[in-house]
Amino acid sequence: MNQKISKRLEMVAQFVPQDARLVDVGSDHAYLPLFLVERGVVAYAIAGEVVQGPYQSALQNVQQSSYGDRIDVRLANGLAAFEEADQMTVITIAGMGGRLIADILESGKDKLKQIERLILQPNNCEDDVRTWLEANHFKLVAESILEEHGKFYEILVAEAGNQRLTALERRFGSYLLQEASPIFQRKWGLEVDKLQHALDQIPREHGVERARIEKKIQQIKEVLDVSK
Ligand code: SAM
Repeated sequence: MNQKISKRLEMVAQFVPQDARLVDVGSDHAYLPLFLVERGVVAYAIAGEVVQGPYQSALQNVQQSSYGDRIDVRLANGLAAFEEADQMTVITIAGMGGRLIADILESGKDKLKQIERLILQPNNCEDDVRTWLEANHFKLVAESILEEHGKFYEILVAEAGNQRLTALERRFGSYLLQEASPIFQRKWGLEVDKLQHALDQIPREHGVERARIEKKIQQIKEVLDVSK
């Protein structure tokens, strides 16, 4: 078997340290654990899934592979997929909304003491994830951005530690701001176009709503100007 995964999941995989004991939460198909175990990066993985259909797909894929002894597929909500005794070191949560990721972490935060690294790939609301990390004594150690099939994805990597983010860093990501890659510029350039389009639809008399959007556009333009 040669597990193929999306460019997005491959980038998530790049942040998983050698010999990690990985919990992949929301492990539809178990693609990420299979990919990492097959490459010898992960010693043992738990694929956690809360919905029957994706859980069955994950189970089937693992059973059909030769890695059934190194991957456990568990039907569980969020961090309920593992216990302290499992001695897990890394958690990945990918392909979900940022608020859901923050809720999953919040609901299981008692279990995070032993975790060495969180690798999170929210599909949106990245700022909510950064806010949760900051409030819960996790500091960002890396961030990455990619574009696949016309969509932009951010990957946030955090480890235990304290940090204070500015509002700008919470929204745009401190590492991403610093790097200001062409993908980052394209993502936020397109966001300006979308906001401008929304603004054009709002009647003049809705001043408060217009001002809110104008402020967002202004903030992004300032960030893009600085990063040029
Ligand atoms: N992680 C994979 C990826 O990035 O390609 C799958 C992403 S899929 C869009 C999201 C998966 O997360 C779904 O299979 C969904 O059932 C699962 N999920 C959502 N909430 C969950 C939770 N609280 N606990 C475990 N799995 C969850």
